[in-house]
Amino acid sequence: MMTTRLATDTCSLAEAGRLLAEGALVAFPTETVYGLGADATDPKAVARIYSAKGRPSFNPLIAHVGTVEAALRLGVFNDDARKLAATFWPGPMTLVVPAARDCAVCDLARAGLDTVAIRVPVDPVARAILQSAGRPIAAPSANVSGHVSPSEAQHVLADLDGKIDAIVMGSASRVGVESSIFACLKGDTIQLRPGAVTRAEAEQVIGRAIAIPDEVSETSPLSPGRLASHYAPRAPLRLNALEVRPGEACLAFGQEIPPGATAALTRNLSPSGSLEEAAANLYASLRHLDSLSPTGIAVVKFSEEGLGEAIFDRLLRAASPR
Ligand code: AMP
Ligand code: MG
Repeated sequence: MMTTRLATDTCSLAEAGRLLAEGALVAFPTETVYGLGADATDPKAVARIYSAKGRPSFNPLIAHVGTVEAALRLGVFNDDARKLAATFWPGPMTLVVPAARDCAVCDLARAGLDTVAIRVPVDPVARAILQSAGRPIAAPSANVSGHVSPSEAQHVLADLDGKIDAIVMGSASRVGVESSIFACLKGDTIQLRPGAVTRAEAEQVIGRAIAIPDEVSETSPLSPGRLASHYAPRAPLRLNALEVRPGEACLAFGQEIPPGATAALTRNLSPSGSLEEAAANLYASLRHLDSLSPTGIAVVKFSEEGLGEAIFDRLLRAASPR
């Protein structure tokens, strides 16, 4: 694919927003680093982010919006979250809060969590694009997974030229490192990632200490993985199933439907074998099959190539004993 270079005049930024609203992948500058943007409400667009970055798992992504009002609609803000938002937005700070009941950010962008990470960037180019898009935009750093984050348009092109629809050729990012992330869930506010808004500054605003979870300790109640549960179906998952047992539902992929599968209890993630389509359909399919109350869900064998690795990682977690 040809990656269109867009300038930063008003017209080009409106075009970038329009492309995003149509489901395109568009890299754009923010004050932290260049982000790889896609419509956060559209799982097909979000799947393309994971695909282009070559991410081995579905990390939850930050939903970027153009205004504080739009941000407040996506989540449930407690006192700490409201104070931090009022002080540091727009700016290089992300808040993780419980997702609003009608949160527009799709399951795939939230990696199945019942929380949502939100940011209102201050960079004028980013804001113009987000306002033109008129919807939350998922935008992880615009680099191939494992590479360093890009603070200049040329860094983005080095990794992603030909793999994304467009890039807004802005100037170098002012901050150059990712946003600070604070989680305001039940109880205390914690810092998930250090960044330009420091812990001390945030503590000043909320008037109490902010803990840093001990990420290595599995037993720490504050560790990010335990903040909120990933979506996992009630029905036990059986991976690499070669046949479907009586009472089981079937999560299929591609042309081969395993023996024993019935139409009523089967969802095919992508009959044509597209991993992007499969990623986009994953959460909705799991939810649907689970709602049918099967004795279990037989999952066919998956390719672990490319996006298949992230899909398999997610299925493994959903299958692990709880
Ligand atoms: P990136 O978009 O590449 O800057 O990375 C997003 C960061 O936000 C990752 O470190 C995620 O783990 C974190 N994150 C996003 N959403 C959530 C969430 N709902 N709960 C906890 N961490 C989150
Ligand atoms: Mg990154």
